[in-house]
Amino acid sequence: MNAMYRTESFPTAPSIPFYAEQSGECRLFEHAYRQKLPVLLKGPTGCGKTRFVEHMAARLQRPLITVSCHDDLTAADLVGRYLIGDGNTVWNDGPLARAVRTGAICYLDEVVEARKDTTVVLHPLADDRRVLPIERTGEELQASPEFMLVVSYNPGYQNLLKNLKPSTRQRFVALVFNYPEPEIERRIIEAESGADAIVSTRLVKLATALRRLTDQDLEETVSTRLLVVAARLIVAGLPEAEACRASIVDALTDDAETASALAEVVHAVISQ
Ligand code: ADP
Repeated sequence: MNAMYRTESFPTAPSIPFYAEQSGECRLFEHAYRQKLPVLLKGPTGCGKTRFVEHMAARLQRPLITVSCHDDLTAADLVGRYLIGDGNTVWNDGPLARAVRTGAICYLDEVVEARKDTTVVLHPLADDRRVLPIERTGEELQASPEFMLVVSYNPGYQNLLKNLKPSTRQRFVALVFNYPEPEIERRIIEAESGADAIVSTRLVKLATALRRLTDQDLEETVSTRLLVVAARLIVAGLPEAEACRASIVDALTDDAETASALAEVVHAVISQ
């Protein structure tokens, strides 16, 4: 019942969300779309996967249906269910069935979080059959030619129980994402926050220093998303140290010792 999803459609000429390309991923995605192949985006959180899909959907002029997967998400949440109203039972398409019927791009963010029963519906959709079995109605929906399945997954969480099964991952064209090169990351920070070159250069320097820290007990390091948030606070008038503390240091850790090690790096970079 609690599938979280939003639909963005582009009935007229869409404005294309800004996306700074890293290394040819736009072309690869476009080829996969034309060849009717599903795509798997791998990479750490906050490195631009969602923005990439939004950008490509707008470029290809397809509606985008995004589902944030979580550990209660079942196949029925994706496919649909019968709802009772006015004494009648009425079939209600879930987000995946809607995308399959209407030729949208369906983006399942953090797909490994979803319940295992979702695999049963994803497999026949992700290979050359391109069908969505709807168990409750006995239907097999043939996907519209424009339908595309995109899933994302963060291998960095190191949760063996939550790895993608080989039989699932081998159905997808894989695109590997990472934090952008400094020049590109600077451009993203400036475009997303309105920060000037001095601020963006300093934040990228800070990111480089923080990403080098390997002796700290961090699940993940600073993402482009966190740098953009810090830049926005700085542009709004917050002192750099305060902005970095709130949006980077305290966002990365709850541990006092780790926080003070990160804060030292922040201090060293911004006092240069
Ligand atoms: P992910 O889906 O990988 O967790 P997002 O796509 O939500 O990350 O990216 C987080 C934010 O970082 C975006 O809202 C955007 O401001 C910025 N961002 C990251 N990478 C890019 C990029 N290549 N181009 C434009 N913005 C980016």
